[in-house]
Amino acid sequence: MKVIVVGAGLGGLTLAHGLRRAGITVAVYERDGALGRPQGVSLHVDDRGAAALRSCLPSAHADMVAATMGGPRTRTLALSEVDGQLTVVGAKPADGAVRPGRQVHRPLLRAVLLTGLQDVVRFGAEFTRYERHADGTVQAWFADGSTDTADVLVGADGIGSAVRRRYLPDVRVADSGRRMIMGAAPLRAVAGTGLPDLIGDNPAAARVRGTTMVLAVLRFTQQPVLAREKWLPALRSGVVAEAEDYVMWALPVAGQELGSPVAVWRRARELAADLHPALRSVVAEAWPEVTVALRIGTIPAMPAWPASPVTLIGDAIHLAPGFGGNLAMRDAHHLCQALTEAHRGRIALVDAIGGYENTMRRNSFTSVAAEASA
Ligand SMILES: Cc1cc2nc3c(=O)[nH]c(=O)nc-3n(C[C@H](O)[C@H](O)[C@H](O)COP(=O)(O)OP(=O)(O)OC[C@H]3O[C@@H](n4cnc5c(N)ncnc54)[C@H](O)[C@@H]3O)c2cc1C
Repeated sequence: MKVIVVGAGLGGLTLAHGLRRAGITVAVYERDGALGRPQGVSLHVDDRGAAALRSCLPSAHADMVAATMGGPRTRTLALSEVDGQLTVVGAKPADGAVRPGRQVHRPLLRAVLLTGLQDVVRFGAEFTRYERHADGTVQAWFADGSTDTADVLVGADGIGSAVRRRYLPDVRVADSGRRMIMGAAPLRAVAGTGLPDLIGDNPAAARVRGTTMVLAVLRFTQQPVLAREKWLPALRSGVVAEAEDYVMWALPVAGQELGSPVAVWRRARELAADLHPALRSVVAEAWPEVTVALRIGTIPAMPAWPASPVTLIGDAIHLAPGFGGNLAMRDAHHLCQALTEAHRGRIALVDAIGGYENTMRRNSFTSVAAEASA
């Protein structure tokens, strides 16, 4: 069996590892260059993402990810200013959409996911269209005119999915109108504010003067350089040596285009100008070049469609701000299991894909809807 995966994001790369381990031929086509684009520094990985990584990745890769996660996050803290001091005024157990988990350094996760897939991922390859043939195969076309043919085509190409636009043209991405700016400051630069010690490993929402700022700390359980030596010496990325502990933050912003990362960071500094000095400092000390503005979209749940050799995973089919990465990796895990069953002759290919899609609709459409109504 051969599978074409469009998109080398969290879902696509997790799937590629799983398929390879099952002995299935896989080719990943990625529009961006090898360096990718800024997508924020931090990712909260919960039981869904962690189980998917453990199941799909070679064990050394999964061990490398596990060794470099932050501490356990079991509660969400509420912070407020009391007599001029930032104070913890409440704590909720992590449950529902935001589940217990650990913080992961996103560029490091991406570098781990790319390790060992050099012969599988083609960068600078923008998928444009596909055609299904009478023999059941699917042919994909790319912007440079090249094509590839496989038994299955997987759209793992994120929110603007070109595969979804052709396969399910009625699906529309709606703009929720919500915008966030997200950034991160080195822990060493803000340790003196007392904020990192105050929140420990748990995420916190600081409600101060009408603004809610979300905060979280990533303290690498094991320094990535040491973890690489032990678990994954093949990991060759500058990210490993550069990685240091940090505080990530997110601030709501009114809808507008903000421009470059530096312009986005300047806007965040303005938004934080009236906040408590510790919060102001976390924004002022942030790395400007990793600051991102995030436009929050939604994909309304849609009725089931007939299964075929074309399918979708992750943001391409359901959007979940704050936990979409976990859903994308879980989809990869479930689709990999289904395709492996078909590869071993235990189920017909299209039935296997239909089974995956039913599970995906049942789990992900429901969790996204639950979050939207929370
Ligand atoms: C700042 C920020 C913070 C977040 N924090 C969290 C978090 O803490 N926890 C969490 O679970 N989720 C989080 N998310 C959401 C998470 O990043 C996404 O849900 C996740 O990346 C979706 O994975 P995916 O594989 O479906 O798509 P993506 O990771 O978006 O990957 C899609 C890939 O497809 C490529 N592509 C697109 N079009 C084409 C084409 N035509 N041809 C070829 N390639 C194409 C893109 O370049 C991209 O590499 C966060 C998102 C942002 C932006």
